Amino acid sequence: MHARVVTAAPLTPTLVRVVLGGGDLDHLEMPEATDTYINLAFPPEGAGYDGVFDPGEVRKTHPREQQPARRRYTVRSWDPASRQMTVDFVVHGDVGVAGRWASHAQPGDVLVFEGPGSGYLPDPAADWHLLVGDESALPAIAAALESMPSEARVIVRLVCDGPDHEIPLTAPDEADIGWLHRSGGPDDVDLLPDAVADLRFPVGRGQAFVHGEADEIRQVRRHLLSDRGLARSDMSCSPYWRRTMTDEAWRQIKRDYVAAMEADVS
Ligand SMILES: Cc1cc2nc3c(=O)[nH]c(=O)nc-3n(C[C@H](O)[C@H](O)[C@H](O)COP(=O)(O)OP(=O)(O)OC[C@H]3O[C@@H](n4cnc5c(N)ncnc54)[C@H](O)[C@@H]3O)c2cc1C
Repeated sequence: MHARVVTAAPLTPTLVRVVLGGGDLDHLEMPEATDTYINLAFPPEGAGYDGVFDPGEVRKTHPREQQPARRRYTVRSWDPASRQMTVDFVVHGDVGVAGRWASHAQPGDVLVFEGPGSGYLPDPAADWHLLVGDESALPAIAAALESMPSEARVIVRLVCDGPDHEIPLTAPDEADIGWLHRSGGPDDVDLLPDAVADLRFPVGRGQAFVHGEADEIRQVRRHLLSDRGLARSDMSCSPYWRRTMTDEAWRQIKRDYVAAMEADVS
C-alpha cells in the first residue's frame, strides 16, 4: 500500500506532522482503536525497484541489501471523509531512517506501508485511566484522550525535552496532565517511573497505557504491577524503541527483552 504526502510541518522542534492522502488510502479500513499503527517501508538508496512497491513482493524477489528499512508508526488521526491519515514523527537529530525522512518530506512524496494493526482502546468501564509515555507514544496518547468522554478520570504523564516540546491536547475536563522535561543527563530514564511512583491513584479499577522507550516502560510496568497491584489485563505496555539502538538492532533483541520484562512481574 502507499500514500502521498499532502503536508509536512513541524509541530515542535522535534516532532513533524505528516498528513498523507491518495493512493491506497481510498480503500483502507481503520480499526476501532486509539493506537492504530502502520508498518512503513523505506527503500535503500539505489534500490532496483519503483518508489511505489509491494513490500511483500520485494521480500520474495530482492536480496537482503535491497530490502526496505521497516519502521512502525502510529496513525495519529484518520479522517474518513477526506481519507487522509496523519502521522507524527519524532525527529531525533539527523540520524535514523524514518525521522530523517519526515524532516525532509515534501508534498507528493510517496510513503509505502503495510497494515494497519492495533491493540488498545480505552475501556469505558474502567474507573480511571493512566497514560504514560514519551513523544513516540504521544500520538497514541493524544488519540486516546480525544476518544474519552468529558467526565472520564485520566492521569497523563509525558516526557519531552522542554516547554516548547509540549503540544496542546484535547482531553476530558478534569484530566491531570503532567509534562516532564529531560535534563539530558543519565537520570532522564527515571523521570517517568519516578513521576508515576509519586502519583495517588483514584479508587476503583484503573486501566493503563504505558508505551515508549524500553527501559522507561519496563520500570513503570514493574511498579504498576508489583507495587500498585494493577491487573495485567488492565495494562497495555509496549517498548516502542530503545536508547542507543536503531530499530533493526532493537528488533533483534526485542523478543528476549520483552520476555525478560514479562518475567519481572508475570
Ligand atoms: C507500535 C509502535 C508505534 C510507534 N509510533 C510512533 C509514532 O507515532 N511516532 C514516532 O516518532 N515513533 C513511533 N514509534 C517509535 C519508532 O518506530 C522508533 O522510534 C524508530 O526507531 C524510529 O526510527 P528511525 O528510523 O527514525 O530511527 P532509528 O534508525 O531506528 O534509530 C536511530 C537512532 O535514533 C534513536 N531513536 C529512535 N527513536 C527515537 C526517539 N523517539 N527519540 C529519540 N531517539 C530515538 C535510536 O535509539 C538510534 O540511536 C512507534 C513504535 C511502535 C512499535
